[in-house]
Amino acid sequence: MRSITLNLLAILASGALAASCGDAAPAKTGAPQADPRPSPNASILAGDFDWPLHGNTSNETRFSHLNQINRQSVTKLGLAWEYEDFLVRGRTHRGMEATPIVRDRTMFFTGPWSVVYAVDAVTGDEKWVYDPGVDGAWARRACCDAINRGAALKDSSVFVGTLDGYLVSIDAESGKELWKTDTLIDRSKSYTITGAPRIAGDLIVIGNGGAELGVRGYISAYHYASGELAWRFFTVPGAGPDEHAELAEARKTWGDQTRFDLGGGGTVWDSMTYDDTAGLLYVGVGNGSPWPKWTRDPGGGDNLYLSSILAIDAKSGALKWHYQTTPGDSWDYTATQNIILADLEIDGVLRKVLMQAPKNGYFYVLDRITGELLSAENYTPVTWAGGIDPETGRPRISDSALYDQGARVVWPGTPGGHNWQPMAFSEKTDLVYIPVLEMPQKFSLQEGAAALPHTVNTKANVKAPPFADDDPALPEQAPAPSMRSYLTAWDPVTQKQVWQSDDLGWWSGGALATMGGLVFQGASDGVFRVFDDTTGDLLHSIDFGTGIMAAPITYQIDGVQYVAIAAGYGGAQNARFLPGMAARERENYERLIVLKLDGANVRTPPRREAVAPFPLYTEAIADPQTVALGLSLYRQYCGRCHAPMGAPNGYPDLWNLPPSTHDAFQQIVGEGVLAYGGMAGFSDALNENEISAIQAFIIDSQQKQRTLEK
Ligand code: CA
Repeated sequence: MRSITLNLLAILASGALAASCGDAAPAKTGAPQADPRPSPNASILAGDFDWPLHGNTSNETRFSHLNQINRQSVTKLGLAWEYEDFLVRGRTHRGMEATPIVRDRTMFFTGPWSVVYAVDAVTGDEKWVYDPGVDGAWARRACCDAINRGAALKDSSVFVGTLDGYLVSIDAESGKELWKTDTLIDRSKSYTITGAPRIAGDLIVIGNGGAELGVRGYISAYHYASGELAWRFFTVPGAGPDEHAELAEARKTWGDQTRFDLGGGGTVWDSMTYDDTAGLLYVGVGNGSPWPKWTRDPGGGDNLYLSSILAIDAKSGALKWHYQTTPGDSWDYTATQNIILADLEIDGVLRKVLMQAPKNGYFYVLDRITGELLSAENYTPVTWAGGIDPETGRPRISDSALYDQGARVVWPGTPGGHNWQPMAFSEKTDLVYIPVLEMPQKFSLQEGAAALPHTVNTKANVKAPPFADDDPALPEQAPAPSMRSYLTAWDPVTQKQVWQSDDLGWWSGGALATMGGLVFQGASDGVFRVFDDTTGDLLHSIDFGTGIMAAPITYQIDGVQYVAIAAGYGGAQNARFLPGMAARERENYERLIVLKLDGANVRTPPRREAVAPFPLYTEAIADPQTVALGLSLYRQYCGRCHAPMGAPNGYPDLWNLPPSTHDAFQQIVGEGVLAYGGMAGFSDALNENEISAIQAFIIDSQQKQRTLEK
């Protein structure tokens, strides 16, 4: 069994080996340990010194041939430099999810609010900062934080998709804006962009998010030099006439009672991988909107192209094939997780494959030219289906997952067995390293179908463990409910787990594999870990004191190998600071940390200090009806960011607001006077009496709590 990615074949064919490239050969600090089998590509190739694309190569393997940092030397890993001058002044801190890009000694990365940073990759010295000036009120439209997963680079242009839906081209040298185009088809809907744009030949492609807030998904391709729209592919039919032929096929799988007013979903918010030989763009499509099919489309079928992998001809925008991972999705099972391309020997034949571990818990290996399912096995406990039929490629959906007849506990839950945190594929071990999350959720239908403006509107309730042992919602032979994460080494040919790390808590970040025999991964406990790629042994760890979600990269300049990683916790709605998480113990803010051998110690942020309680704003107790109304409105509009009492999550603590904030409550919540910082106004949804009811609920629960404490 061996694999060679296509671009490597191309580089090998052109003879562009490391020896002929301008950069110094890697210093040998400790000979690499002998491997159980010979590696197919022992030499370092010219392109390996940079990290020029989101997943390093266009195959998005997140693998590097660099090996100066290896099993012997890794314990000497320390700080090279750190950048923390993020443009969040006057704004709330947000999560860091970006993968940096490195080319010609410059590193480009993004932070919250879609700001792009260019720095010297050796010193960390700032070259330029590009702030697209996103209106902080737009944070309300983002299901999962005002984050960004990275920029793209082609020739002399850097591209970023902004939270408020623009695609921007920036001059890589000066940081000046070259062009800016509006990618949104309807700015009155809650569309956002958080994903990294991708390069597909002369096109730059971008999708969007918003399926939890009632939008219809699509992906757009623009000419990279002019910003002119080349094509747009809608992932689900709309209320109007079909925009392209593929939608007529999709429409057959939707019924005549479809609630098109609720959006349909199918947003392309993260995964896009371009096969530059086949000219195909592989796109991961998201979940349905709203979540339950019974609400979205009571009489329909599979609801194409929800939760599907699409192969789109990059030049024409026409669909070549599709594979639906979760027909009739009702569990938020996006297929937006990262797609990796490789050539794998399967049953004695070298196959051009595509690999994905979508949220639904199955690891898929598809023939990426034809879309044929080669294999699918579960990489985490799964109860929503009893396997994938190899003939039809369809899952055998379990009755125990259908919650239209009552609540059901289903594995995996809505965060998925694997989410946006990228997995990596090692060309050295032929293993895939998956950041796995193991957690079921109890699903139930949410009554009523009013579409609230710019508000998460899934029409399903979900609850995390624990559950009572005799909970009738549990399936027969249920696995033990857990909330844990780990790094899993997965053999994509045998579809079997090779090793699994210890429990990494809630939850672990993206992965990087290298020819040094290592897998790098951070976690929300603030620890950056390095594993042996073959045995899973933990070889080294560094405590950053800052929760890590993003994936690391590596690059080499002047004979020194670096590993770079964005740190800072945030992300999905209700991102709580649970026990054991760094953000609960220490100040949580945005950092970009770069490591090298013989580096310095990494600093940890100051410990959180308890905020002394402000005096009660008023002793007056509102009537119980007003308090009850306030509670229900808090749950509907506020609870997505502002955590319940005693459950800190980095957003302002409603249960201990200074009197001046209470004085301005109507102006803040209604008019949006703090919108720049990320607190949108809600005057479109809430009247003055309703805002007063929320305030009354806050004061009332504060008062009750303090009475209890006395
Ligand atoms: Ca979703």
